[in-house]
Amino acid sequence: MTAPSSARATSFFTHLECSATGETAPWRALQGLSPAGRPWLPRYDLAAIRASVDRDAFAERPRGLWRWAELLPLPLDRQPVTLGEGDTPLLAAPRLAAELGLERLWIKDESTNPTGSFKARGMTAAVTMAAHLGARALIVPSAGNAGGALAAYAARAGLPAHVYVPSDTPEVNRREVVLYGARLVELAGLIDDCGRAVAAERAQLGAFDVSTLKEPYRLEGKKTMGLELAEALGWRLPDVIVYPAGGGTGLVGMAKAFAELRELGFLPADARTRFVAVQAAGCAPVVRAFTQGDAEATRWEGAHTIASGLRVPAAVGDRLMLAALRESGGTAVAIADPTLIADMVTLAALEGINAAPEAGACVAAVRELLARGTIAPSDEVVIFNTGAGTKYLEALRELPSAARQPA
Ligand SMILES: *Cc1c(COP(=O)(O)O)cnc(C)c1O
Repeated sequence: MTAPSSARATSFFTHLECSATGETAPWRALQGLSPAGRPWLPRYDLAAIRASVDRDAFAERPRGLWRWAELLPLPLDRQPVTLGEGDTPLLAAPRLAAELGLERLWIKDESTNPTGSFKARGMTAAVTMAAHLGARALIVPSAGNAGGALAAYAARAGLPAHVYVPSDTPEVNRREVVLYGARLVELAGLIDDCGRAVAAERAQLGAFDVSTLKEPYRLEGKKTMGLELAEALGWRLPDVIVYPAGGGTGLVGMAKAFAELRELGFLPADARTRFVAVQAAGCAPVVRAFTQGDAEATRWEGAHTIASGLRVPAAVGDRLMLAALRESGGTAVAIADPTLIADMVTLAALEGINAAPEAGACVAAVRELLARGTIAPSDEVVIFNTGAGTKYLEALRELPSAARQPA
């Protein structure tokens, strides 16, 4: 590469910062966790970005999450590994709002992403950077949608991929890995057991580990949900964001996005939103830690739920999630499987949205928080539909054959 002839910067990405100790590291090498064993946070020269680009400029660029290039890690003169992810619709949900008793409700519909879930956002960033920094193969543990997303983006990059899943991972999630040409390894146990197998075997396979928050860039991809949301609302935030939290990348990523937007002056300095983390009653380590006032979560034993994205008994980002919930004045709620399946149907049947069980849990959480008075009817609420319900054959089989007849 020759140096760019113009004075225009090709990157505003300056360094990595340890989320626990503040220690810094250069980013121009493949990085896993920090020396303290915690996630790295990518940092940018926000003052230079502010001087270089106006917030309205982003809307004029071609659609997709890479239009936020200045706030993403890839140098501006490089091509990302992309399948057209991001810029998902923010849909008004008036029928569901009326049923719940809310005045303003939006659904950010992530089911339209490549591979049918928002895992595409994280993987376009992680695979792009891994390829840019010289990775020769990729590996990931997955309980649901992450495996298929990695397999697709690895195929797009021309890199081999290894995906380790619990043997009871939803059938579609296992078969899509094979469809995209990756190596599928099925193990007894849960996703953290698969994570241990990945850690043990990655060196021998020569594969770079793209586990949630164990490399720095899936977070940056997921951050774009927050950028899109703030922009779509006319550069302001809703009162409440309701998010189904497993590994927590989306929640932590959006909190990071909003902090960066405030510092850039793209959002008012006092712009705030309350985060609600929703988990399944059969696997709710973050809800338990939040309720107990703990700074970190302990492993949830015997985790089970049909909402596979929430079947994460121990998350490496637990401290970051809990801090984001508390700093935002938010809360955490656990929902039982029959209830989240019922409200998956509510969302789909009232609004025509391809609702995942994880989004059903969010609808049920709003119901519960309205009843408790934690959410007011006048609050503007955004629910994330993080994936396509049609990928969950096991959940669809639970539906009564005439789940909801029109009134
Ligand atoms: C992975 C996943 C989640 C959890 O996402 P995190 O950002 O890791 O907390 C929620 N819903 C679906 C459909 C998922 O695939």
